Amino acid sequence: MKTITKSILALTVTTLAGSLLAAERATPNIIVIMTDDQGYADAGFQGSKDLRTPHMDALAESGVVFTDAYVTYPVCGPSRAGFITGRYPQRFGFERNPQYRPDDPEMGLPLSEDTMADLLAKAGYTSAIIGKWHLGAHPDLHPLNRGFDFFYGHLGGGKHYFQEHLTIRDPMSIRNEGQSYRTWIQRDFEPEKFEGYLTDRFSDEAVRFIAENKEQPFFLFLSYNAPHTPMQAPEEYLERFPDIENPLRRIYAAMLSAVDDGVGRILAKLDDLELRENTMIFFLSDNGGPTDANASDNRPLRGYKSDVYDGGWRVPFVFSWPGTVEGGKRFHGITSAMDILGTAAAVIGLEIAEERPLDGVNLLPYLSGEKEGAPHEVIYLRKFDQQRFAVRQGDYKLVIPYREQSPHLFNLRRDIGETRDLADKHPDILAEIDRMRLSWDAELIEPRFLGLMHTEEWQRRMRQWREQEEESEN
Ligand code: CA
Repeated sequence: MKTITKSILALTVTTLAGSLLAAERATPNIIVIMTDDQGYADAGFQGSKDLRTPHMDALAESGVVFTDAYVTYPVCGPSRAGFITGRYPQRFGFERNPQYRPDDPEMGLPLSEDTMADLLAKAGYTSAIIGKWHLGAHPDLHPLNRGFDFFYGHLGGGKHYFQEHLTIRDPMSIRNEGQSYRTWIQRDFEPEKFEGYLTDRFSDEAVRFIAENKEQPFFLFLSYNAPHTPMQAPEEYLERFPDIENPLRRIYAAMLSAVDDGVGRILAKLDDLELRENTMIFFLSDNGGPTDANASDNRPLRGYKSDVYDGGWRVPFVFSWPGTVEGGKRFHGITSAMDILGTAAAVIGLEIAEERPLDGVNLLPYLSGEKEGAPHEVIYLRKFDQQRFAVRQGDYKLVIPYREQSPHLFNLRRDIGETRDLADKHPDILAEIDRMRLSWDAELIEPRFLGLMHTEEWQRRMRQWREQEEESEN
């Protein structure tokens, strides 16, 4: 018996060493497809009944759907900062949506942080970002100065989807987020006009980039601004949803359908070029759906974009790598958008600076069964300005809904909608998770820049919104 155990052990270790050696040599392509403000329920593979996303569903079927995947923040900018550094953005002060300020080099992702493209460049990768950046509008913070070789997209938080609405040529000439929605698209640094529907143009550029870089390892960050507001879609996509009665939901469905076509075109191009098995594809939304704004659906989760409830920061998430990761599965362990870089770093053997360790981890051993349990035993969220917190640990989740309010405790396995507060029932569990929260909080710094929320533009918008709310209540 002893001998058998020993030989099995020896075999396992050999296999492990073999796979590690192989892993060190691997340079798969990486494609990250990120949508903007897509709700948790809003894809066929997430159970949607009214939308149609056949290509996203095919991607999901070819890989693993992560049911308990979180981004690092419930709004765009900080969430992207977390994904692209593989680190909690609260560690380096990116804890607000940045203002659109081409004159301010501090307004965005600090230069002290490495992006995923910076790290991959050292391993010989060519990188592109197509679509939304939102990590700073100053030239120092431009994607081409943050490790990327190619940029086609926009620097701010959103964009109108037709050229006729883009009335401002130069993206560097303005100092206002609202106006930034109306500047021309940039190709690298140059403003450029486009024809047709913006989402289709982003897909065109993605397919072109893949074809042009098929001979060498590449990283493509395809960062669709859809289905973020403004809600705009051409007739050809709207026509696909004659049965959706809510007009806003119909536009939303059309916008996601255009993204879905893009996903299909990318998969087809990879198949054509026989690159599918040498390409890791991740698909996720950057935060939960803002239902009032874009008619997204986060059910069965509680809350919306910007919330510390799961509806704010738990997202649709797929990882597909045929030939290496077995497809057709659902994985329920706690996972993070930071694990995209964690996985890439392990597979490619990226050099990570000692003073900036990743919070993301390698997902592969959890998928192969080499490691038991979840990639993260615990995952954290802080919103500094309101002192809101959420900590997910195993099945439990602590929520501090607002500054100095008493914490709630939920069991997400039994109560995914966060409806039954167990704080009084399990004070010991609550106290333990709260200790973890305080210990994590002590590692963080304060936000390094004022946010969009501090601008007059934003406060005016909020006042208008409150007035409308009051009117509708009266
Ligand atoms: Ca977003």
